[in-house]
Amino acid sequence: MTKFIIITGGVLSGLGKGVVTSSLGMLLKSHGFSVTAIKVDPYLNCDAGTMNPFEHGEVFVLNDGTEVDLDLGNYERFLGIELCGDDNITTGKVYRSVIEKERAGEYLGKTVQIIPHITDEINRRIWKVADETESDVVLVEMGGTVGDIESSPFLEASRQLHMEVGDDNLMFIHTTLVPVMDVVGEQKTKPTQHSVKALRTIGIEPDMIVGRSKVELEPSTKRKISLFCDVPQEAVISSPNADNIYRVPRILDAEGLTDYVMDKLKLEKENGFDECMKDWKEFLHNYENPESDVTIALVGKYCDLEDAYASHVEALSHCRAATRTNIEMRFLESEDLEEEDGAEKLLKDVDGILIPGGFGTRGIEGKINAVNYARTNEIPLFSICLGFQVSVVEFARNVLGYEDANSSEFDHKTKHPVIDLLPMQRGIDKMGGTMRLGAEKVVLDEGTKAFEIYGEEEIQERHRHRYEVNLEYKDEFEESGMIFSGKSSNKKRMEILELEGHPFFMGCQFHPEFKSRPMDPAPLFLAFVEAVIARRNGE
Ligand code: GLN
Repeated sequence: MTKFIIITGGVLSGLGKGVVTSSLGMLLKSHGFSVTAIKVDPYLNCDAGTMNPFEHGEVFVLNDGTEVDLDLGNYERFLGIELCGDDNITTGKVYRSVIEKERAGEYLGKTVQIIPHITDEINRRIWKVADETESDVVLVEMGGTVGDIESSPFLEASRQLHMEVGDDNLMFIHTTLVPVMDVVGEQKTKPTQHSVKALRTIGIEPDMIVGRSKVELEPSTKRKISLFCDVPQEAVISSPNADNIYRVPRILDAEGLTDYVMDKLKLEKENGFDECMKDWKEFLHNYENPESDVTIALVGKYCDLEDAYASHVEALSHCRAATRTNIEMRFLESEDLEEEDGAEKLLKDVDGILIPGGFGTRGIEGKINAVNYARTNEIPLFSICLGFQVSVVEFARNVLGYEDANSSEFDHKTKHPVIDLLPMQRGIDKMGGTMRLGAEKVVLDEGTKAFEIYGEEEIQERHRHRYEVNLEYKDEFEESGMIFSGKSSNKKRMEILELEGHPFFMGCQFHPEFKSRPMDPAPLFLAFVEAVIARRNGE
């Protein structure tokens, strides 16, 4: 029988519910259970693809090309699994399928209602994941906050699921904020009490409460939460702010989360944390004990919100552990590099430059200046997707001599559209889910840096773009020293570029950051960081 764990959130959003969910999944997995995770996003968008990263954080892309919330990135990284579109349930998807069924006549004669039709559709989707993955445990993280109008059909559906599978097979974990009053340092439980009350009005009794707080919860705070929220004291888990998210599994396990959950769901435990999490402990040790420092600039456009580049930050964290190097990230707004000497001023003391993906004209010239600075000053540069495209534009302008070279995304009148719309994109006018999306094969040329880095001829990487290198210019680029070392299987799409005679100048049209894992960093990221370290050491 599949066990379900529903994780809800109270008081406010942004509590780190996703990290609690991922950590719990990882802990259960370490005890030998197969675990998968579903994220419920109660917004009306069908997927995250059309949302602004500046408001919602990065759009994560799965192998099958579904564009999802960044929490799914954490599930993949912590659980070491690969998810698919079914693992992200949004209000948009649910309503769309119910309305399509209604139009197809599947509910003939009936009045179609939120209960039972929407709630049934929600649970059908949860069961589909459970059945298809045959997981021992399915974690379901409810996005949003208890009390929101948007999330109520999902909570109602999980109340019904509880009734269906019974107490031994489903539990509710409620994550809330426990604020600490600055002046007296007192931990306040009232917000938790209120959000549990809100849960109860919809018929859900939490089995456990995870109290997110600046500091550890005092025993008296736990006692109070236990009393007012009707959960045993050992079911109140303290989750204080951690220096890094990789520490969270350890903290939650030490607080008794794993024991309580396994007991409640009658899952048998054989070993303790130390035995189960040996590799993780080593990773954590390497992560927390760097031996040297480097600085990497990320030249982006949504820099005020670090979450907009979550997977880049994670991929670099994985390299931090692998190389035992503290990577100081400097987030630079590309527009600031557009001023005269902007690049020189902001980049002169960095050891490496990373240019991530992006959309829209704002800040493009600043990114081009960053590429130019890296190329001419021999600073390691790693550019991804839009970054890859601006590397091509910079080369066309300053090496091939096409002054007005551009991507037709930014200047559709340019005489030299060295980056142009993918043929498959012509004629598409709808924006949702219509880019070139998901994992596709990339073939690497022997004898190139890319081949050496990956150590194999064929790789699979995830994509998310509409534009690409214009083949008409390919020969000219190659004649001037740019090597397209990775291409699509039909050789028509340039996927990786590198530059002859530069210590590290690499770009890729795909997004390697999505496949980086704590103990298995993305090869291109690792090679970049190694080049950055070498430069720092004057090698
Ligand atoms: N805007 C570019 C394109 O659509 C790059 C996309 C990206 O960086 N993800 O091709």
